Amino acid sequence: MTNAGAASAALNGSMPKPAVVSKTSAFVSTSLRRAQKLCGHYCYPSNLSKCCACEDLRPIADGYECYVDGLGYTSTAARDDGYCPVCNTKNYDRWMARVSRETEKKRLEDAERERSEAERALAAEKDRQNAVEKTAGRVTYSNGNVYVGDLLDGRPHGVGRMEYFSDSDDTAIYYEGTWAQGKHEGRGKKKYVDDNWYEGEWMDGMMHGRGVFHMNEVDILDGIFEEDEFCG
Ligand SMILES: [Zn+2]
Ligand SMILES: [Zn+2]
Repeated sequence: MTNAGAASAALNGSMPKPAVVSKTSAFVSTSLRRAQKLCGHYCYPSNLSKCCACEDLRPIADGYECYVDGLGYTSTAARDDGYCPVCNTKNYDRWMARVSRETEKKRLEDAERERSEAERALAAEKDRQNAVEKTAGRVTYSNGNVYVGDLLDGRPHGVGRMEYFSDSDDTAIYYEGTWAQGKHEGRGKKKYVDDNWYEGEWMDGMMHGRGVFHMNEVDILDGIFEEDEFCG
């Protein structure tokens, strides 16, 4: 029990790190919770009655089989490598490093998403302005989409067909039907990749009302849709 004893002794000392770290992102939990166990040591809250070190009944060895962050599975891990971040400050440091990596990654992804959304919105507005004089006809958009039909204020409005070269999730092939202010509204058929298509009622760009969705010609949803969801 010398190693575990040493670990316990270390644990009996003051926790070197604060229990709660400032919250930086709603998507990454950055608060490290801890609970006092029956053995008297603090550990991450779980249904184990004792802390990681006291629950560890493995015989003493030179190395231990364990998954180690950034290293993978190894048989040469330290005894406390598998312990929770509360019981093992190395784990805590790795955990904190991972949290900050993930937070930074998410921040970059958010920034990139915002940037491309702003770019798309700007391009869409330019396209709209270029077509603003037309009441009907053919419009080729900067993203490659081609529209033929009625227009109002530079947007599809009335009856028309859009051939998609790209859309938000790149699944649309074409839409043919009625439009209002650039969105599917009324009745129309939209064809997607993988032989999926919907024909029926639309509202504010969403499948809404009575319609039929064909999925790969195998599953057919025939009934009422509400805001893109099939309700039966
Ligand atoms: Zn623990
Ligand atoms: Zn303990």
